[in-house]
Amino acid sequence: MRLIDTHCHLDFQAYDNDRPEVLDRAWATGLKHILIPAVDFPSMARAHALARQNAAISMAVGLHPNSTADWQPGTVERLRALAAKVQPVAVGEIGLDYHWDHSPRPVQRRAFEAQLELAAALNRPVIIHNREASTDVLPILEDWVRGLPPERRAVPGCCIPSPPQKPTRNVLWRLGFTWALQARSPTKTPKPCAGLPLRCRSSGCCWKPMAPT
Ligand SMILES: [Zn+2]
Repeated sequence: MRLIDTHCHLDFQAYDNDRPEVLDRAWATGLKHILIPAVDFPSMARAHALARQNAAISMAVGLHPNSTADWQPGTVERLRALAAKVQPVAVGEIGLDYHWDHSPRPVQRRAFEAQLELAAALNRPVIIHNREASTDVLPILEDWVRGLPPERRAVPGCCIPSPPQKPTRNVLWRLGFTWALQARSPTKTPKPCAGLPLRCRSSGCCWKPMAPT
């Protein structure tokens, strides 16, 4: 089995003191690749530096919903220009976070929709952050997916506690449970995860406990 960590915030300050050791432990387990999701522009710069140093590390571009308070129509052009430079493998993590509400919800939705359009234009998959916002995230995603070729994929992450209970027509859901497995209930398999067929699961994991983002 070839293991890929699709959601590791390796660029975060929490790793500054021991990043090489963290990576050594990760590779020693058999992990073959790490994808760093973006949260803001500084995080994208850090991820780019890490990806340039190591071919087994890839990056995404995108603004986390909690980083969208200053979203402007031109922000997506800044992301597009950055994507042309760094050639990301995905757009994310993008989505909606109604738990923290760091950005007004209408602004979060505008940023989410604009970044979905960007992903479609770049022909890249998306990494979704959904916290207590399924009622808006799912209809927005379904609208978006309707305009995509059928082979395209969405990779929702941080879905707890309300991931889609059954696959939506024309959408292949790959569910990431990320921090919820380590930070919220490290010893228990979350109910929505336990009920899914194995082929539907995707593991995004961090190599030490960290706060949700
Ligand atoms: Zn994340």
